[in-house]
Amino acid sequence: MNNQITNQNILVWFRNDLRSHDCETLYQASQVAKQIGAQVFPVYCFDPSHFGETSFNFAKTGVFRAKFLIESVANLRENLRSLNSNLIIRIGKPENILPELAKQLEIASVYYHTEITTEEKAVEKNLRSALKAQNVALKSFWGNMLLHRDDLPFAIAKLPELFTHFRKQVESDFTVREVFPVPDGLNPLSEALEIGEIPTLSTFGFTELTISDRAVLQFRGGETEALKRLDHYFWQSDRLQVYKQTRNGMLHTDDSSKFSPWLSLGCLSPRYVYAQVKQYESDRLANDSTYWLIFELLWRDYFRFVAAKHGDRLFYRTGLRGLDIPWKQDWKRFELWQIGKTGYPLVDANMRELAATGFMSNRGRQNVASFLTKNLGIDWRMGAEWFESLLLDYDPCSNWGNWNYTAGIGNDARGFRFFNINKQSHDYDPQGEYVKHWLPELAALPASKIHQPWNLSPIEQKRFNVRLGVDYPNPVVDLFASAKANEQIYNNAN
Ligand SMILES: Cc1cc2nc3c(=O)[nH]c(=O)nc-3n(C[C@H](O)[C@H](O)[C@H](O)COP(=O)(O)OP(=O)(O)OC[C@H]3O[C@@H](n4cnc5c(N)ncnc54)[C@H](O)[C@@H]3O)c2cc1C
Repeated sequence: MNNQITNQNILVWFRNDLRSHDCETLYQASQVAKQIGAQVFPVYCFDPSHFGETSFNFAKTGVFRAKFLIESVANLRENLRSLNSNLIIRIGKPENILPELAKQLEIASVYYHTEITTEEKAVEKNLRSALKAQNVALKSFWGNMLLHRDDLPFAIAKLPELFTHFRKQVESDFTVREVFPVPDGLNPLSEALEIGEIPTLSTFGFTELTISDRAVLQFRGGETEALKRLDHYFWQSDRLQVYKQTRNGMLHTDDSSKFSPWLSLGCLSPRYVYAQVKQYESDRLANDSTYWLIFELLWRDYFRFVAAKHGDRLFYRTGLRGLDIPWKQDWKRFELWQIGKTGYPLVDANMRELAATGFMSNRGRQNVASFLTKNLGIDWRMGAEWFESLLLDYDPCSNWGNWNYTAGIGNDARGFRFFNINKQSHDYDPQGEYVKHWLPELAALPASKIHQPWNLSPIEQKRFNVRLGVDYPNPVVDLFASAKANEQIYNNAN
């Protein structure tokens, strides 16, 4: 086994692709290295700028995602060790660390998966110029998505503004590339090389974290856990075949796949998910549910292509549509939303789940985002940044894309549409089980009363052991009057 350093060595820079399966950078590097007798050096940098603050002063990466990230990097190291290699870990900006390593390890090229949004692109740009001065090549790959940008039937600049048009066009000639195999072994790294310790939460100023035992799933970062979750959801419990009917559930672990945190950090490859769906369809059954999981992954792709097309506009107050809505920055009400004390049980339960676990279902996200923007009229970017801070599965394209969409300023906004929280509560939590799970103060209420506690008479409040305005708040706004007022504001901005 050759572990000497040659000046043809390849550095594989891991970012949001923390896996060994379907990892084109790692696979291609291993093939090239084998041919020319060079060495592959896998590296991950914990970038301090990810641990700074958002523009509204929330932690950019909150404790839930920090923990998940550390676990994912640790697991990648284990998986690379089982291929004879290891993962070099550094804390610092990649544009500073990688050129230093390149010098030290006689690197000829750096392989990495390119990202889409501004901050990530800026890192690539800085790195490119630093490496150019050292005559080191930077080779980028397109991964972490179902579709390859080169396989789209249109240029990204011509991406349809409506998801349905996008979907129909890509489905007419659907091309998902083959999954790259795990490399069949890598050269060991020299023992003289400083490999670097895995940081702990305290490295980033956090105290240890225990996730609430009410959490819908005790998410653990890493490729191994991601593959286990897929095996469970598809093969062991056969939940894929009912995905379409159950995906809007908020309470149960297997209501939806829960793949998102692993997809966001790249512990799980969407192409691998696709290949497994195809396998499931041929071994077990194909139905509208198996199709629907792919459909949702297409939404994920779509938001990435939208970000690639529209760039920074995704983050502007005026959104992709450039709508100048006079959003309020009402911090008092915003805090009620953050801590789950708006007086609307469905909103409050979801916000408390997010604060306690870093996760919220898609149904929940749509409702709380609609409530913040359409009922409270609050600046949607405050909500997007709060999600950015807390979500385990935060990714800039999906988060800011969905917020644009729900705030009515997305590229395909069709006027002022808001979620009727009362109806949503009855449709998606008819027995109030989800609400009771997160709002213990309402635990004694019967299903018929739980979603509108403001209607409880004083006698009922006594009977059900809840004092309105004391144990549970009165509604912060009237649902329909507030929506009407905000609709007016929205229409005036049109
Ligand atoms: C306001 C708002 C913010 C959001 N922020 C994020 C985010 O930061 N990161 C994130 O991954 N998702 C985000 N979503 C999308 C969606 O809520 C989550 O992907 C989903 O709830 C994750 O749960 P799951 O894996 O069980 O989903 P499933 O229903 O099992 O779906 C499978 C996969 O499809 C993708 N997907 C499903 N719905 C969407 C969607 N609407 N948009 C994009 N991809 C989707 C996800 O990768 C998901 O893991 C957001 C949605 C809203 C309304």
